[in-house]
Amino acid sequence: MNRKKSFLTEPPLLEVKNLETAFEIDGVEYNAVDQVSFKVKPRQILGVVGESGCGKSVMSLSIMQLLPKGSGKLKAGEIIFDGINLETMTESQINKIRGRDISMIFQEPMTSLNPVFTIGYQLQEVLFNHWKITKREARQKSIALLKSVGISRPDKMVDGYPHQLSGGMRQRVMIAMAIACQPKLLIADEPTTALDVTVQAQILELLKEIQSVNDMSVILITHDLGVVAEMCNEVMVMYAGKIVERTDVDRLFHHAKHPYTTLLLGAIPKMDESCERLSTIQGIVPSLTNIPKNGCRFVQRCPKAMPECLTTTPILKSIEQGHEVACLLYETRNPEEG
Ligand code: SF4
Repeated sequence: MNRKKSFLTEPPLLEVKNLETAFEIDGVEYNAVDQVSFKVKPRQILGVVGESGCGKSVMSLSIMQLLPKGSGKLKAGEIIFDGINLETMTESQINKIRGRDISMIFQEPMTSLNPVFTIGYQLQEVLFNHWKITKREARQKSIALLKSVGISRPDKMVDGYPHQLSGGMRQRVMIAMAIACQPKLLIADEPTTALDVTVQAQILELLKEIQSVNDMSVILITHDLGVVAEMCNEVMVMYAGKIVERTDVDRLFHHAKHPYTTLLLGAIPKMDESCERLSTIQGIVPSLTNIPKNGCRFVQRCPKAMPECLTTTPILKSIEQGHEVACLLYETRNPEEG
């Protein structure tokens, strides 16, 4: 592949089409992700933002085919990775792709690392799962990986246990495991949320560097728009399982259109303004069982809600090149529709 070629002209690495992921509660199915479509291009960092409960993590687990068995299911849609429809693959084929071509890091590294095994053992497990290498080669590779993510004394730490590391260092180990097989796509689900601010900045810097060195695409899931500004090319905002706005980062910060996005942006503390209270968004994201069946899902919290927002469901539409919004304020109506 020509590395210099702009990602804009290349076919997408990942294409999600009309994804619906449902959970069953008391015998009724509810869509936690509803009619979600998007593309990730090679080497792109796509940010996915929204409050907790907006469907961001369920969407990433759907892509990884890691939904909790028995409760969550892919109800509809297609997930096409590198030209292959993941839905058509067997469990063992998916296992080969997972960890090798698509990998994931989670919010809380301590719960993702096994406390009873050494860091080296857990790294080598990943390598043995996907490559035919000797124990000696796997150990050498593990040390090199730890070094590449900034772990000091990697030759000693390879024999250490997770509890001997700080939160930031554990997240570095998780990143080392995620990139062990040089995946084409990394899904990072709130990778810095559990860390303090200075460590957050270091981990973001590391992710950026690794993305650029390895030519990876990244889906970065976060509730923090500051992280999006720092890291991403493009961003999509999710609310109650749907994409409500999608555009490039610059436009999102300067010309956001959806009322939810503008409220999210308004809730970011400003360095140059003094205020006694930070802005908040009134109300909470509706639970799965309380999502309105008709109309806009944001209607209960929207300061610009109109009577028709209760009955007409907004559809994600392009309002200009590279900018899509799902809000009735921006839908041009056919006058004959009334
Ligand atoms: Fe607000 Fe209506 Fe737009 Fe929904 S469709 S975001 S309720 S104005």
